[in-house]
Amino acid sequence: MFNLALFGPPGAGKGTQSEALVRRYNLIYISTGELLRKEIRDGTRLGLEAQAIIASGGLVSDEIIVQIIEKTITGNPGAGGFLFDGFPRTYVQAYILDGLMHNLNTSLHALISLEVPEEESVRRLLDRGRSSGRSDDNEAVIRTRLREYRDKTLPVLGFYGERGLCHQIDGTRSVEEVGASIQAIVAHELRKRLLNVVVFGYPGSGRGSQSAALAQKYGLEFVATGRMLEDEIRRDTALGRRIKQLYENGELVPDEIVIRLIEQRLEQTRDTAKGYIFKGYPRTLVQSYILDGLLRKHGSTLNMILEIEVPMLELIMRLDARSKTDRAMPYDSALPRIVKRLSEHETKTLPVIERYRKLRGVQVIDGRGSFEEVSARVSAAVEEGFRLLR
Ligand code: AMP
Repeated sequence: MFNLALFGPPGAGKGTQSEALVRRYNLIYISTGELLRKEIRDGTRLGLEAQAIIASGGLVSDEIIVQIIEKTITGNPGAGGFLFDGFPRTYVQAYILDGLMHNLNTSLHALISLEVPEEESVRRLLDRGRSSGRSDDNEAVIRTRLREYRDKTLPVLGFYGERGLCHQIDGTRSVEEVGASIQAIVAHELRKRLLNVVVFGYPGSGRGSQSAALAQKYGLEFVATGRMLEDEIRRDTALGRRIKQLYENGELVPDEIVIRLIEQRLEQTRDTAKGYIFKGYPRTLVQSYILDGLLRKHGSTLNMILEIEVPMLELIMRLDARSKTDRAMPYDSALPRIVKRLSEHETKTLPVIERYRKLRGVQVIDGRGSFEEVSARVSAAVEEGFRLLR
């Protein structure tokens, strides 16, 4: 989930900015002001209680606010995230939000404060009052709303500032400029929270099929460099023709080419990815440094290394069996090739796994048993990874 709050005095542009955010990031929009106005229109008990307070420019009681927010949150199970506008407005409400997010096993990830001087707020609200039809958009009430903001709402900034969640931006610029600043913050926050996994394992360990299935199941981008190189050849791109030539001359594909392909992939999926699963990369120590750099440039980092472990004899039996089926890879066909692939992994890739073991730990997954049994084990690891990112 991704949860965001827009903060700022009345008239700062929270509602306007929310529209684009909700569309782009598929968030459920919770504007307590709008929810209250709806209760009033519907003539509910809550609406009746809130009506006079809103008209005077004061703040509605925290009890009422909890009730209307809870209703919206529970009415949207499976939401990808919430965008709060006009909430939390008091120190107490900041704790309420904590509790509400805790109920959903998540938290608020960022609060963006649109900073606008008081006189600018007044000017904008009076302007809006000419067409909004809102009883509280007149000068006397506007002044009360701004006083409430100063006295009761501003202290909320400190609450989030202490937690490093508060971003203050200049709200006096054009709608587009403010929107661009907000998007940059959101994109940065989202990238910090990607789940980036490398799946290691000897050839025949099931790392390919397991990681493809994981990507599918959890909506992660599957980055299988071997497959990406083949794709380029099949699509007959300029890069594909170069790769083909290298293959035909029996040469290795240089790291520069793979870097470009991964960079492209990260760039293309920048706004949509929930995370990446790397398979068949990094294969060498050099590539592991490259991947660190690529992710850092992307504003992100690796957060999970899995190693699917299968005893050597079983690997050989699996590879031999596969060579006799129509799932055989070209390189499965002969024993010397099978041995070559196993020993490449041993000499070049095991040192990479060792590097990660020292750096951040590697989770070893028992790769014996049926596809489903192994799948349940890797899925449990990934779910734990997602849980830690909440
Ligand atoms: P807004 O649409 O956010 O400008 O809110 C309009 C009015 O609704 C405010 O002046 C308050 O009276 C009331 N209100 C909206 N949100 C809250 C909240 N979180 N806590 C208390 N009162 C609120």
